[in-house]
Amino acid sequence: MGNAPPSLKNARILVSNDDGINAPGLKSLVRIAKCLTDDVWTVAPETEQSTAGHSLTVRSPLRIRKVSSRRFAVTGTPSDCVLLAVCHLLKDRPPDLVLSGVNDGANLAEDITHSGTVAAAMEATLLGIPAIALSQMRERDHPVKWPTVEHFGPRLVRKLYRIPKPREVLFNINFPDLPPSEVTGIEITRQGRRRQAEVVTAATDPRDEPYYWLGGPRRNAASGRGSDLTAVSTGAISVTPLDLDLTDMKMVRALKKAFA
Ligand code: MN
Repeated sequence: MGNAPPSLKNARILVSNDDGINAPGLKSLVRIAKCLTDDVWTVAPETEQSTAGHSLTVRSPLRIRKVSSRRFAVTGTPSDCVLLAVCHLLKDRPPDLVLSGVNDGANLAEDITHSGTVAAAMEATLLGIPAIALSQMRERDHPVKWPTVEHFGPRLVRKLYRIPKPREVLFNINFPDLPPSEVTGIEITRQGRRRQAEVVTAATDPRDEPYYWLGGPRRNAASGRGSDLTAVSTGAISVTPLDLDLTDMKMVRALKKAFA
């Protein structure tokens, strides 16, 4: 555990996302960041990159488009954006904090490994910069409740930034699909697991070629006490600390015995 970092007042915040430079959630997150500091920069994908995960573009060139003085669009993934921001655009003074989101929809349970929103925060963490991913849960056909994340976001980000943490840890926040007055509290959670497999839809295109479409409706069924899914299903904001080290230490010990 390092020392607690100083306040955010003079900090530089980088904002990114996976929904793209024009996403309403990005505007929400910039407003949240501007409650904390004046030094807010945005580097976000030119087009939507949801479920891009932690991929980097290494076999084609990337272009940066300057949208306005502290706002840039990149023809790549969320991880590309964070890397270009930290190692190129802001290399003279890298950000003190990276915020990713606010995603249109939850990033809970196994979403975490598919999520471009979480991946942008992971990339920042790899580069040694504290990072927080923010997602606003939304049931089908509900309008997204941006006021909820904007209401709780600034205080929550400020508090998480000040808590000492290991370098390899990032925070994943999910806001329930409720107006601010109905949110029941903040719960510290672990990553849950849904009891469902991905849905594959097979069909035939107008040229008689088969095609496949991945994904179906998500059911956010609770997955046991203390999970992110359970927290949001009871109306709470879920805060999950994630470790970049995916090693299962119990299994390391079991394998060492088996291979001894
Ligand atoms: Mn998204």
